[in-house]
Amino acid sequence: MTFDINNIRNDFPILQRKVHNRPFVYFDNAATTQKPLKVIERMDKVYRETNSNIHRGVHYLSDITTNDFEAARETVRNFINARHDHEIIFTPGTTAGINLVAYTLGEKVIRRGDEIIISAIEHHANIVPWQMLCERKKAKLRVIPMNDNGELLLEEYRKLLSPRTRIVAVTHVANSIGTVNPVKQIIEIAHSQGVPVLIDGAQAIQHLRVDVQELDADFYVFSGHKMYGPTGIGVLYGKEGILEEIPPYQTGGEMVDQVSFEKTTFNSLPFKFEAGTPNYIGAIGMGAAMEYLKEKGLDEIAAYEKDLLEYGTRRLSEIEGLYLFGRAKEKIGVLSFVLKGIHPYDAGMIIDKHGIAVRTGNHCAQPIMERFGIGGTVRASLAFYNTRKEIDRLCEAVEKVKEMFS
Ligand code: PLP
Repeated sequence: MTFDINNIRNDFPILQRKVHNRPFVYFDNAATTQKPLKVIERMDKVYRETNSNIHRGVHYLSDITTNDFEAARETVRNFINARHDHEIIFTPGTTAGINLVAYTLGEKVIRRGDEIIISAIEHHANIVPWQMLCERKKAKLRVIPMNDNGELLLEEYRKLLSPRTRIVAVTHVANSIGTVNPVKQIIEIAHSQGVPVLIDGAQAIQHLRVDVQELDADFYVFSGHKMYGPTGIGVLYGKEGILEEIPPYQTGGEMVDQVSFEKTTFNSLPFKFEAGTPNYIGAIGMGAAMEYLKEKGLDEIAAYEKDLLEYGTRRLSEIEGLYLFGRAKEKIGVLSFVLKGIHPYDAGMIIDKHGIAVRTGNHCAQPIMERFGIGGTVRASLAFYNTRKEIDRLCEAVEKVKEMFS
């Protein structure tokens, strides 16, 4: 076990800097995470030593970079325990992965009057592509409701499933309030009616052990930048059978087999879904991030984050006039709150002056804010490089906010 918080903090150069003349506290991890040296140096090494476009080259460096890119695919496969390398499609991120499925599977299976089920606690990325698909096809979007704690109502979900349901798409973890959904059960229920399921793993992959075979997910999507890797790269995992069946999404070079002016045949998996030059340096960087997380220990990270969440929940709950949203029994380190009589934006601005980065607003989850009857929250989202001392500093800053508005 190599989990030592001081060592871990030293792995992240940005955490050593100051903001507004104070030691920097970064609590905006659900928006994007900071990068360890291992990732920065791995990508730097490619740019300095081996950069060449992949797959098509016969020359030395192209061969090295191609091998590194495909090794990253294997790292991802291993990380989420997919059965095959070719079930790992590199995408620009979660949003791109969901759009890919909406435009391929969606276009293929959805007909007028069909239904797609999402949930009340989705990020806009897992709402809008399905809503647009429904508009195109004159289909209906159904929404699994939640209780006041931010937990989905599975009995209602069972009722929503009908012979017209064609796709279920739900998030593994809610970005706005941290709820961990019982996705294995959600998948099982959908499969009992023969309906495929997409899981949005953007907020889960960096906190939980994800095993796509155990979950039996048909699709699982996530972004590199939210799991300590680079921006502009993500993964769409899909089961081999379903990926074989659905048509390609974007078209062009690399995803083809034979091209003539009369007809084009497509490449095999995974290349059928990777048109154009992929972000190979991003993929290699994301692979390095996964190796780094494994080195630190996924279970150790989860245990440390659980402690931080409990501490943060307790400390913030002690503050008078502060109300925490998202009280699910199963949740990850998201502390989403409002301060009585103070706009989240004002609070966030003042907290920033204390060198602490939090996010304010609706967190790309307007429907859930509406459900709570609020415009937005202040969100402190935790990572394993955060500390209890940083949470104390957040609480001090919140007290200062209250003082200023009293
Ligand atoms: N889904 C969830 C649950 C998210 O939290 C986010 C980003 O915050 C996304 C999807 C979109 O991710 P990206 O912007 O990396 O495509």
